[in-house]
Amino acid sequence: MRLPKIRELVEAITALVKGPYTSRFPYAPHEPAKRFRGKPEYSNEGCIACAACALVCPARAIEFRDAVTKEKATRKMVLHLDECHYCGQCSALCTTRDDNPPGIRHTTKFDLAGFDRREMVSTTDEKELALCESCGDVIAAKAHLDWVARKLGPLAFSNPTLFLSSLEEMGIAEGLARTARDYALRSDRIKILCAKCKRKATLERY
Ligand code: SF4
Ligand code: SF4
Repeated sequence: MRLPKIRELVEAITALVKGPYTSRFPYAPHEPAKRFRGKPEYSNEGCIACAACALVCPARAIEFRDAVTKEKATRKMVLHLDECHYCGQCSALCTTRDDNPPGIRHTTKFDLAGFDRREMVSTTDEKELALCESCGDVIAAKAHLDWVARKLGPLAFSNPTLFLSSLEEMGIAEGLARTARDYALRSDRIKILCAKCKRKATLERY
């Protein structure tokens, strides 16, 4: 019993000389450790709206909002900080985690209390979606398709959806394959298609 008492005494004397171990926040600014997992923040530049972070979030604190109308189709990522556990899964498993900047990362911001839960969010801008030219279903965000095409390099040319969306991104594919004669270019396959329609086009023609 004597040893712990001596240890506590040493701690008390050290604290008297050096000051308390705890910070004086909120009376003085607090600088968290470098690897502290604070507020997760999206990067508009780095996020490709693939929604992988929403799938791996154990707290289901992330949602993706798709808005599909006749005029436009977009996706926005929304992270609800009031539901977040700050576990780090979203940034650790983000598809673009090795890019600079990554899609999402933890900042060291920690003083996040507020009165309105609707304001406790981290969001991306709206990202354009690619829709299936046959059935109109959402395929993926265009930024996601471009990212995959960049990763694949020349191999992307073997996939009509990636190939065409890359050409469209460059502004040189508009109407190219769609006006091709059916039997010359298999125009039913040379389209931006979802997996279901691509399978249908492949299996039902031959
Ligand atoms: S790029 Fe990263 S942050 Fe953006 S949606 Fe995909 S997983 Fe989430
Ligand atoms: S830190 Fe964890 S709980 Fe918070 S949004 Fe990311 S995955 Fe979800």
